[in-house]
Amino acid sequence: MECSDYNLTRHVERENLNLNPLQRAGMLTPEARRALYEFGDGYSVCDYCEGRLDQVNKPSINGFLDDLAKFIDADIVRTTHGARESKYIVINKICEPGDTIVVDGNAHYTSHLAAERARVNIIEVPDSGDSKHEITMDKYRETLENAIDDVGEIKLALLTHVDGDYGNVTDAKKFGKICKDLGVVSLLNSAYGMGRMPIKTNKWDLDFVVGSGHKSMAASGPIGVLAIKDEHAEDMLKRSPRHEKKEVELLGCTSRGTPIATLMASLPKVVERVNKWDEEVKLSRDFVDKLTEIDGIEQVGVRPTNHDLVRFDTPVLHEIGKNHSRKGFYLYEELKNRNIVGIKRGQTEWFKCSTYGMSKNQRDYIADSFKEIVEKYK
Ligand SMILES: *Cc1c(COP(=O)(O)O)cnc(C)c1O
Repeated sequence: MECSDYNLTRHVERENLNLNPLQRAGMLTPEARRALYEFGDGYSVCDYCEGRLDQVNKPSINGFLDDLAKFIDADIVRTTHGARESKYIVINKICEPGDTIVVDGNAHYTSHLAAERARVNIIEVPDSGDSKHEITMDKYRETLENAIDDVGEIKLALLTHVDGDYGNVTDAKKFGKICKDLGVVSLLNSAYGMGRMPIKTNKWDLDFVVGSGHKSMAASGPIGVLAIKDEHAEDMLKRSPRHEKKEVELLGCTSRGTPIATLMASLPKVVERVNKWDEEVKLSRDFVDKLTEIDGIEQVGVRPTNHDLVRFDTPVLHEIGKNHSRKGFYLYEELKNRNIVGIKRGQTEWFKCSTYGMSKNQRDYIADSFKEIVEKYK
């Protein structure tokens, strides 16, 4: 057996401009790349552990969790293995099997699976039904009120802060208020938000907020963040009677190696970049403006965009593929020749992409490349 048989190389995505929204904000900082090497051994953060991962002080996991809590305006923070694990932990603890929760219509599949695994039913808040696919808080309130009337009790409501299909940003603050008014526990899924944009857990009156280190916080992952409001801490972080130091819902210890070490190493730069979110949105809008100058390319979702993840309908690219000898693969190949990757091979009817963290020049270069490709085959 040779490990070279496993094809463990990866240079295309690292050496080219990568548009894959999933990967843009999970790229490591130089500091995280060093931590990756330093903490690569198994259980590497456990050298000085006295039984509680969140209290380890070499490396300073306790100090890091305090800083992270401050960063997202939360009372208490724990790490998990991903946004999905955070969601499952919350749903499973707050609800009983057979309960019903309310979830927005743009929810990630992992929200559905977390609910299924916790054996709860889902009532969906429909989107605007047009090309904006917007989840409005009026509709959310209406759906939640009706659900309470129909079912009797709704213990938990989940809102996707930024959805992964359109990059629509929902009104987390209004959501927090609606849930508080109606006495429903609120859970904000900010996998595409936390680490990119400011999060105000307490100011927005949210009970739980989850984030994803490998999606949006420059960490190798898998690692998730779980922000908990004080009043839920005792219940959520209950200790085992047999193992008095261990928090049961977290199965004692969660992330314990490079996932958390890289998240820690990146945090200062993540804090910095979140302060520049407005600039990022502006650059993203400029990119959308430039790309949609092309006839036959249109942005889908709320316009102008409030996020770096954007979705486009691209009939002009699809038409070209119909007559091209390489069929739909021409687009991938033309882009790759220009050192641009991250759009699925063969896909031409639509795509979603992100230019998060790129310079203006790089974004212009990408938009110009699309223009060139369309010109070439028009
Ligand atoms: C990527 C994504 C997730 C999954 O995050 P993990 O940390 O990998 O579990 C959940 N929700 C949304 C909206 C996402 O975009």
